[in-house]
Amino acid sequence: MDCKICRENIHDFIKDNLSRKETGQMNAHLDFCAECHREVAQERNLSSMMNQWEVPKTGKGFDLRLDERLAQERNRPHSWFRRLFSVN
Ligand SMILES: [Zn+2]
Repeated sequence: MDCKICRENIHDFIKDNLSRKETGQMNAHLDFCAECHREVAQERNLSSMMNQWEVPKTGKGFDLRLDERLAQERNRPHSWFRRLFSVN
């Protein structure tokens, strides 16, 4: 396997989508090719970062709901929000 094919396979390699034979070829190439090895490490970091972003996404939904509630409070006359922040 050469670097070009290796690079094309990196994504599938990380996602475990390659056949056993292809995975073996990838590992063999990565054993002696530092360049591709680094490439794989970067891709792995990237995809684990993507996975971690799933968590803040739910957090953001919560924030949005909170914002909506605050906006409702703000628009209500005599709400605790107006009293608290003296919004007129
Ligand atoms: Zn290579």
